[in-house]
Amino acid sequence: MFDAAIIGGSFAGLSAALQLARASRSVLILDEGRPRNRMSLAAHGVPGWDGVPPTDILARFRADLAKYPTISFMDTRAEEISGGLDAFTVATETRNPVHARRIILAHGVQDVLPDLPGLAEAWGRTVLHCPYCHGYEVKGRPLAVRASGPMAVHQAQMLRADWSDDVTLLTNGVEGVDALASAGIRVDHREPLRLVTGDGIRVCFQDGPDAEFAAIFTAPEIDLTGSPAGRLGVGLSEGPMGPFVRTGPMQQTDVPGVFAAGDLATPMWNVNYAVGDGARAGAGCHQSLLFPGFIPALEKEAA
Ligand SMILES: Cc1cc2nc3c(=O)[nH]c(=O)nc-3n(C[C@H](O)[C@H](O)[C@H](O)COP(=O)(O)OP(=O)(O)OC[C@H]3O[C@@H](n4cnc5c(N)ncnc54)[C@H](O)[C@@H]3O)c2cc1C
Repeated sequence: MFDAAIIGGSFAGLSAALQLARASRSVLILDEGRPRNRMSLAAHGVPGWDGVPPTDILARFRADLAKYPTISFMDTRAEEISGGLDAFTVATETRNPVHARRIILAHGVQDVLPDLPGLAEAWGRTVLHCPYCHGYEVKGRPLAVRASGPMAVHQAQMLRADWSDDVTLLTNGVEGVDALASAGIRVDHREPLRLVTGDGIRVCFQDGPDAEFAAIFTAPEIDLTGSPAGRLGVGLSEGPMGPFVRTGPMQQTDVPGVFAAGDLATPMWNVNYAVGDGARAGAGCHQSLLFPGFIPALEKEAA
């Protein structure tokens, strides 16, 4: 019986583990090894690590944990979580089930990428999700936003204001874009057929000439349905790009003994938030082990 099982060993999960490690609590981290930004050559905006490959940052996080004897890793996928407070069981893909008194959900989210040929290959390189993370590297160059919802207008305005004078919104059928032309943003209603990666990224359309950009920004939808969080039945809130786990001030969920941190527990995604919320989940989990009832689960919301 571990004090805590952490589902997901990336920025949020490893940060949570470090707090518990420093209290000499026994922790098992189950990790499938697919952090969300793994395809990026460098992570940006992370103090002390700006421009460092995400896998290098995570290797360092893991190295920090290696000196704590109460921390164990299992490089496998957690499938199902059953039981309850002080007696959870985690079924895994490849190993025997494991038992833990607390659960920290830190398995991130699954990006559901648009079904556009060439997009998946360019994801994280020239098709990007966030100006803060990757905008500086393409600033001043021709940029596009491929709309996947009303937030695209907001993103195009951001990019036009502080990153480039040359911004095109590929509307992709999304409406409410009329004001953009007067804000100096080109609007293209044509339907992209495929993307071709070169120096930047070329968009081939159903009709008319291709267009060339340094990068295209787009917001993927996310899905928690098949994930351990989704199957455990923790309460969710709805964000602009999909659901996220509802948490309280110490990252507690509405299931007693279950905490959540990182991308799966916030509508705004960033390594720093994941590390910060992970630390809070680790401390919250520890407090709840020491002082039962000190951190009550959130009230369930009416269906
Ligand atoms: C393309 C791209 C680029 C990005 N670039 C930046 C950037 O430059 N700077 C920045 O601050 N943010 C960036 N982000 C956001 C950043 O990647 C996330 O905020 C961060 O990775 C969230 O950390 P996390 O620990 O919550 O989840 P993740 O890093 O996604 O890690 C989740 C871990 O859990 C594992 N897992 C999933 N399911 C299971 C399961 N059932 N059992 C066991 N393990 C499981 C996964 O394999 C993974 O190892 C980027 C995001 C994307 C999509």
